[in-house]
Amino acid sequence: MKRILIVGNWKMHLNASQSSLLVHRLAERIPIYRNLEIVLAPSMLVLQPMSVQLDRRKFRLAAQNAYFRDEGAYTGEVSFTMLRELVHYVIVGHSERRHIFGEDLPMIRDKVAAAFRNQITPILCVGETRHERDEGETKQVLHDQLMTALANLTAHEVGESVIAYEPVWAIGKEDVAKPNQIQVVMDYIHSYINDVFGPKAAKNVRVLYGGGVTGESVHAYLNVKGVDGFLVGHQSLNYHDFSQIISSASRWQRDNEEQ
Ligand code: PEP
Repeated sequence: MKRILIVGNWKMHLNASQSSLLVHRLAERIPIYRNLEIVLAPSMLVLQPMSVQLDRRKFRLAAQNAYFRDEGAYTGEVSFTMLRELVHYVIVGHSERRHIFGEDLPMIRDKVAAAFRNQITPILCVGETRHERDEGETKQVLHDQLMTALANLTAHEVGESVIAYEPVWAIGKEDVAKPNQIQVVMDYIHSYINDVFGPKAAKNVRVLYGGGVTGESVHAYLNVKGVDGFLVGHQSLNYHDFSQIISSASRWQRDNEEQ
């Protein structure tokens, strides 16, 4: 069984001292887990001080974004090259980046390639809008997002990647996705990777679910075949809620290992 991966995306919340307090509180509540990998994605500004504070036996760091060029006259941007000593992961193609900042498919493809060029694991977000789902376009949208983003990778790199399925309509909303809806997409993602990159890549790639995950929904979502963990938004900003998600996932893992 793969280690469950849980990523907290803090988005544009929490300044340096608030972030430091949250990490402190989480570290008090969260033990060192053998079967769970916990990743925090604070704001870019906070990555450096947090890398010093963090207990690396408990947590790893992710950036929420980076620019695909390694260096140059790109005012306001931070490159993967600059992040490589600080983070294990970078979130790429989050729907907020796609929809608010206009990141298109080729840009996301270039960011995924830049991550591997700099020995950083991309957490590639994919997912359909409510309109696309209602029009029956979910698989087509996922196909286009996966095909473009993974286009320049080897099968080995795809196997090393993390893909987060985040239906846009379920992010930060009351409208949560049902396990059977997630199952259809998990099956599609694995079959796409199997067909294009082979069975080893399909077996090794880790696929997360994201969108309104809470401590209560963790078990139902982990029962979906192919879900290897979660990308968590607003519930990762509160130490009580986030540690509940983590302990619930750990209980699920223990119960399922024993079976
Ligand atoms: C997200 O933005 O990646 C996310 C999963 O948000 P939330 O958990 O708040 O729905």
